[in-house]
Amino acid sequence: MTNLTLYNPFVKLAFTGNNCFLCGQPVTPTDTILVFPEWLMAQYNFAHQELLLLDKKIITYADLTLPGCSTCHQQYLAPLEEQVKAAATQGLNGWQQLNDQVLFKWLGKIFYGLLVRELIAEQNPLMTPQYLLTEDVYMLDKVQSFFKVLQSIRVPMVFSDFMPCSIFRVPLQPDAPGDLPFEFRDDLHSMVISLKLGDTLLICCLLDNGIIKAALGQLWQRLEGHALSAKQAAEFSAQVYYAAYLLNVIPEYFVRTVKPGDSALVLDTLIDDITASVFNPWSSTAYAHMFEEMLKRWGITSAEILRNPPQPLSFLFDEAGNFQLEVK
Ligand SMILES: [Zn+2]
Repeated sequence: MTNLTLYNPFVKLAFTGNNCFLCGQPVTPTDTILVFPEWLMAQYNFAHQELLLLDKKIITYADLTLPGCSTCHQQYLAPLEEQVKAAATQGLNGWQQLNDQVLFKWLGKIFYGLLVRELIAEQNPLMTPQYLLTEDVYMLDKVQSFFKVLQSIRVPMVFSDFMPCSIFRVPLQPDAPGDLPFEFRDDLHSMVISLKLGDTLLICCLLDNGIIKAALGQLWQRLEGHALSAKQAAEFSAQVYYAAYLLNVIPEYFVRTVKPGDSALVLDTLIDDITASVFNPWSSTAYAHMFEEMLKRWGITSAEILRNPPQPLSFLFDEAGNFQLEVK
């Protein structure tokens, strides 16, 4: 019979290497799972590239691991990797064909791996970060909600009438000089992860029940059929990351009572948009800072972005609102 029991590591905040991250079974220090899959690191050759953690410690992508038992590895994670790897070999078309729920699990596991790494670092920091994730009640609520649906990697789960996340598969123009074939970014607080993989940029807000995809629906439609240049992709990324930053609600998930013979959990969701508004108010200054961050490579400042405040700098659309096919 399928084991439909969920694991909750948040009761004791037990983020050590002693328990499988997915099922909680005790593991030895050598039972580890790579956060970024081996095939991906090999394909884009970034295993030895460095990554800066919140406590300023520098590690390589290959050093990023999660404790994981062999059952979870063999039965759930390896097949998931195979599925995603097969899609990735077909580039954009493959990513577009890949089911949202599969992509959610795959990106979610990478995100969770980075998050747990930060939580472990907090227990023994090189330098105390400005804020501790484990002391941030709002953040912990979010992570717990997210981990519940992430366990669909292991426990068969049916989401009744929702998808926990918003996923964008952005077509990209062929790399120009200076463009990198692989790029990675995430934001732990707004729970966004993005990966540039050759001709595709994947951006996912992992815990919004599709609200951001709906909120940016008009913008997304206007981009349909276009492959974006690097600056245009940076602008779209800024829009998604900023929307996620403004998101002010945490979806809650409820497991329906399990009946004998059930082979999957059924989850319902609820968003409390009565005690709080769904989004905090938009600020052009804050958006410009986000966009500046995405444009770091080109040294474009927020002052330049806001030269004409009612119409912030855009590489996507010209002043008449038409998509710009040629962007310098
Ligand atoms: Zn396990």
